[in-house]
Amino acid sequence: MEKQTDTKVGCHRRIILFPLPYQGHINPMLQLANLLYSKGFSITILHTNFNKPKTSNYPHFTFRFILDNDPHDKRYSKLPSQGLGSFARIILFNECGADELRHQLELELSKKDEPPVSCLVTDALWHFTQSVADSLSLPRLVLRTSSLFSFPIYASIPLFHDLGYLNLSENNHSDYEASVPEYPLLKFKDIVKITSNPQGMGDFVTNMLNQMKASSGIIWNTFKELEESSLETLSQDFPTPSFTLGPFHKYFPASSSSLIEQDQTILSWLDKQPPKSVVYVSYGSGARITESEFQEVAHGLANISLPFLWVVRPGMVTGSEWVESLPENFKERVGDRGRIVKWSPQQEVLAHPATGCFWTHNGWNSTLESICEGVPMICSPCYVDQPVNARYVSDVWKIGVMLEDGIERVGIEMAIKRVMMDKEGEEIRERISCLKEKVNVSLDEGGSSFQSLNNLVDYISSF
Ligand code: UDP
Repeated sequence: MEKQTDTKVGCHRRIILFPLPYQGHINPMLQLANLLYSKGFSITILHTNFNKPKTSNYPHFTFRFILDNDPHDKRYSKLPSQGLGSFARIILFNECGADELRHQLELELSKKDEPPVSCLVTDALWHFTQSVADSLSLPRLVLRTSSLFSFPIYASIPLFHDLGYLNLSENNHSDYEASVPEYPLLKFKDIVKITSNPQGMGDFVTNMLNQMKASSGIIWNTFKELEESSLETLSQDFPTPSFTLGPFHKYFPASSSSLIEQDQTILSWLDKQPPKSVVYVSYGSGARITESEFQEVAHGLANISLPFLWVVRPGMVTGSEWVESLPENFKERVGDRGRIVKWSPQQEVLAHPATGCFWTHNGWNSTLESICEGVPMICSPCYVDQPVNARYVSDVWKIGVMLEDGIERVGIEMAIKRVMMDKEGEEIRERISCLKEKVNVSLDEGGSSFQSLNNLVDYISSF
């Protein structure tokens, strides 16, 4: 159980938190809940039955399950759990969830044997929760689990849609590789990856932004020094109070909120590898690749002479259960030099001295986790904020390289060589080590994240 280090501050007050039920959203919300608990608040977590976390890892929290409790409710039971199903589920809960959430919150607010509720903290994607909180005069804070810099780009999705940017195809190659006039850092090929449903996504982000503006404050899982100019722009355009107290995982690791069991045996294999020699490959909890891309990854990893640890999540390869479509002689070629696991203890892997680089989809948690351990990245973004995060990694902070031409073996080998063997890789490593230092300073007493956490606690205590 996490310790309550500062019981005075939040004493006799309770916070209700409501994460979006996907790994990259559950992890930071439960880490934030632990942070607030450590400041003396009691914690109640609202969650769907879908993707419920292991509650026994959180004996200090109270869990309530809402929205999909009825197994016979056809609206929910028909939803697929992967791919486009994720967006459909979020849309449906946003459309249908208000009455049930209001009922649950009324119950919580009326409880005499529990501390009074200070506020509700919900994922930004639960935009329906603002009107429910308003109707109960309950302050709502929003947790945004992605980068600050991706925020204005999300806000521009309706504009990109109107301008026809989101419908470009790879065949129209000159446009595809060109810079987007409104955001020269991004290429059209980055923008088209954000969504395959421009109309639906445009409406959704408009709702999300309006309800974020109406909220009492926004909590970001980032730190000021990483995104200073985005923070300044945000405070001009968005008067809602903002708190940047991340990276949350530096206070509390993600292992306890992992939805898939992490393969711990891999750590003893890593112990046997030379320092900074291992290529760690993982595309997070939602990204999917085709069978032919999967085979290109396999060939790329087999062709290099370095050890590798490859996370192949069951269901990640379209049309396959797990690794059935590996090239025929892959295992013989690789031997003990390479390991494939279903899910890894990622933060421990990135912190391990043997890990040399991280070939990632650039989900925001993975990107932050890599920065915090000073591990250079190879970027293969798939969708939503990932292409934007990847551009910052490769072109702004210059702490990784982009696989510009998608997943194919020659590009893979070249990218691994650039990061692991070339002088360019040494320079990348130096730059990311500097960022790692800045994270540590921001979390230390008096640092920006440390201060922002205290500001947040004072703010909540003032409700
Ligand atoms: N993760 C993990 N084991 C793995 C791969 C990922 O524990 O094998 C964790 C990772 O540490 C991170 C989260 O899952 O905290 C993935 O979040 P991210 O935002 O990077 O990507 P998403 O899964 O949302 O696409």
